[in-house]
Amino acid sequence: MLNAQQENERSLAGLLGLGEEEAAEKLNARVAVLASGEHEEAFARDLKDLLGLTLQVVDPGAAHDLEIRVGAKNHGCVEGLIVSCDGASLEVAWSPAVTKACWSPLHGLTRKIAACFCAGHVIANIVGGHILERTKDRFAFPLINLGIDDAVLSARIELHDAVMVGAGGVANGFLWALRELDVHGQLTIADPKAVRSGNLNRCFYYTVADLNKSKALMLAQHAAFDGLQLEGYLGTFQDLVGERGSPRLAITTPDSRRARRLAQDQLPLAVVDASTTDVSGVVIHSHKQRTESACLGCIYSFIRAEGDREHDIASGLGVSVADVQTGLIDQTIAQKIAAAHPDLQVEDIIGISLESLYKEKCGEGALLTSAGEQALAPFAFISALAGALQALELARFVQGVGQGSNYMNLDPWSPPHARVRRLKGRLPACHFCSRPEALASLRLVWGSELEG
Ligand SMILES: [Zn+2]
Repeated sequence: MLNAQQENERSLAGLLGLGEEEAAEKLNARVAVLASGEHEEAFARDLKDLLGLTLQVVDPGAAHDLEIRVGAKNHGCVEGLIVSCDGASLEVAWSPAVTKACWSPLHGLTRKIAACFCAGHVIANIVGGHILERTKDRFAFPLINLGIDDAVLSARIELHDAVMVGAGGVANGFLWALRELDVHGQLTIADPKAVRSGNLNRCFYYTVADLNKSKALMLAQHAAFDGLQLEGYLGTFQDLVGERGSPRLAITTPDSRRARRLAQDQLPLAVVDASTTDVSGVVIHSHKQRTESACLGCIYSFIRAEGDREHDIASGLGVSVADVQTGLIDQTIAQKIAAAHPDLQVEDIIGISLESLYKEKCGEGALLTSAGEQALAPFAFISALAGALQALELARFVQGVGQGSNYMNLDPWSPPHARVRRLKGRLPACHFCSRPEALASLRLVWGSELEG
């Protein structure tokens, strides 16, 4: 099985078409982050947390390959990146190209979102290649493009009957960001899987001590903060709804389109969703029923590539497509996989998702997709960005802000543009909301609240 470092190397090799040794060398780059002043140092800490999961972060006094300064003019460093923020926009630029070096105190969530974009640009500068082309000299954007509003971020949020679906990289990023908001109440985290070594490259809250333990329980234990009570639930969202009924709010972070459609089928009253598309995309969506706009099923409708993917997983692991669609490896499926892959032991793979095992085998070079590509795990900053934008979406959603937009689809390597937020309409062929039975089922569960 791949460890955290190997997952990153594979992702970089796949992203840039490099050999593994070259990718490993690039990720061995040493970066130093310099800051003076309380607010600058808070940003520097977030940035180092993010970078530390992908590159080598060293003390400023130690030998390093790249220097990053937060909010200060170039104090004699020959070449380095300067991060500036005037409260309205973020800029990361090479020292000669800086237009104004400054730093303004930022709301904690704004600071973390800005740190994610900054980390991406630092990594792009380290690894080079096509991801850096458009922003080579200067990476800048107005924070308002993301819908960041300090008044919204300062408002109190009460969570009751809320469930987080999934406890992977995005969920870790969400809770890392959520602690910056004034959140109270209770949140249940549902995930049937255990922490794997491949999770450690993008999950803030897991360490090697958590390997093979329940993700949901470990995340609830490690990510708790004052005001919010976290409960881990070892099981799927469907299991949880079967026991307790549909929640008012589902904060969804599962790892596949199918899992999101299944989450929609559980009839939550409201959904705030975040996802990553390997190393190249972040998608955010929210809605409350009854909506005339897109539901989670509309956003993650079945696409042909998904069928191809399920077929790839089935043929790669030596199981049927129906087995793949169950999501998790049980005793029977484990026996089939072990028969096709003698290096795997039945007891080691029970309870893992077929998708995750497939990615691990691809990462080891044992399997390729039908297109000859490797499945790539996102870098830490991408999962964290998705989670932090999901926390922002939650704050906006709870305050009723931005009803005119329910969707964001952005490239984590580029500055978000002014039209990144938009309203996504219903999909006429949605597996969920196009059927009259869906509305009837929602009425049965939520009654008059649907019209509220
Ligand atoms: Zn729909």
